[in-house]
Amino acid sequence: MFLFKTVASLQAHLRQVREKGKTIGFVPTMGALHRGHASLIGHSIDEGHYTVVSIFVNPTQFNDAEDLEKYPKPIAEDLQFLFDLDCDVLFLPSENEVYPRGERVVPDLELAHLDSTLEAAFRPGHFEGVLQVVARLLEIVQPDYLFMGIKDLQQLVIIQMLIEKSGSPTQLKGLPIVREPNGLALSSRNERLTSENRKAASVIFKILTETRHNYKSKKLSELKTEAISQLDHLPFRPEYFEFVRGDNLAILNTKDDYNGTVYAVTAVWCDTIRLIDNMEMP
Ligand code: AMP
Repeated sequence: MFLFKTVASLQAHLRQVREKGKTIGFVPTMGALHRGHASLIGHSIDEGHYTVVSIFVNPTQFNDAEDLEKYPKPIAEDLQFLFDLDCDVLFLPSENEVYPRGERVVPDLELAHLDSTLEAAFRPGHFEGVLQVVARLLEIVQPDYLFMGIKDLQQLVIIQMLIEKSGSPTQLKGLPIVREPNGLALSSRNERLTSENRKAASVIFKILTETRHNYKSKKLSELKTEAISQLDHLPFRPEYFEFVRGDNLAILNTKDDYNGTVYAVTAVWCDTIRLIDNMEMP
């Protein structure tokens, strides 16, 4: 595995890789790697792409200074993790490499409701930061394929819009959520949960699963009220629980409003840790 810390050295290496006719698969991460990241990396490797992983804890996407400060950064473990996965390249840039001279250009993208609902409503400025960093990383790596998780569904939809709008040849692949044995969606933030809360947080998966089970027989409003009331017990505090269209994440009030794929999406505080999850409805 190669490790590059500068844009120039990474790009010189990737030029040689492309000259050999290889396709490049890219997995951007913020580190504290887990099996969710491994799934994205494994897909890229299995599809035969030269696989580049980046680790960059992007300060511009954190709307909460404490969340940024406490974000785990176990770089030695991450290096070993990537090495064991047989990843080809780790790109580990400094903030100065990603944003030279403090330049922070946000792509001009009309996000419409995606900029004001769900995650955007509770994390102001978050998606501007995500757009900045992903646009910049795509400019640096210029991958053929970009691998991202359905866990961050709103991010996935927004990055698809970015790729389409910019006319980039990169193809985005969204991959399923990887979970702990108890159902809790894997997240780097789970490490900050107490072991008791980590067990208790399986309630989110349980409620999403029940919602899917009851989806055909109940109204969306009933399902939503039931889910919120079951989630609203300390140490949990639900922020939202909604049904959305899979294509553009517009919130649905009734099932008659849309025929395509529907997701239940939720954000729940567990003590001081914010967890997000979602599930496709039948
Ligand atoms: P992060 O390091 O949290 O920025 O995540 C990097 C990528 O991994 C994003 O595309 C996430 O959607 C994806 N990801 C995070 N958690 C999971 C998970 N549990 N299952 C699958 N993908 C995930």
